[in-house]
Amino acid sequence: MSSEPDWFWPVEPGPTLSGPTLSGPTLCVDIDGVLADATHRQHLLASRWRDWDAFFEAAGRDGLLAQQAVLLDTIGQDHVIALVTARPAWIATLTQGWLTEHDVRWDVLIMRSNADFRRSSEMKTAAVWQLRQRGLEPVLALDDDARNVAAYARLGIPCVYIHSGYHG
Ligand SMILES: [Mg+2]
Repeated sequence: MSSEPDWFWPVEPGPTLSGPTLSGPTLCVDIDGVLADATHRQHLLASRWRDWDAFFEAAGRDGLLAQQAVLLDTIGQDHVIALVTARPAWIATLTQGWLTEHDVRWDVLIMRSNADFRRSSEMKTAAVWQLRQRGLEPVLALDDDARNVAAYARLGIPCVYIHSGYHG
């Protein structure tokens, strides 16, 4: 592993984080299909020529999946909420605006770098390694892609599978 691969972007303290450091037990929470209802834009990936740019640009119009958002509100403040998403960094501002608009609790936002085209499960595995390097200890994950659930399991992290229907 190189010291700071550019796919780990950003480690950004969010609006609910209190205290000077990021450390301690951490929940790794996916965005699309877990917090954001991306059903309205799935058709953009349905054809052979997947329109990823349009797919991500439309994310600002996602509805909130309230059941998971409320769940995050019940988590103790001694736990860090890390949003670990394979969304590309170029929609970071859109994503942060959406999180604010819907009053989602979060502490750290980890996105895929714009030049990273690996599988979500690989990107999320790498994100967990770096979280651990920084003193954050993932204790639970939430994801709607069974491949990511399996990746978290390989890392020793139990993962709640949320069914979105986006991943077969
Ligand atoms: Mg997802």
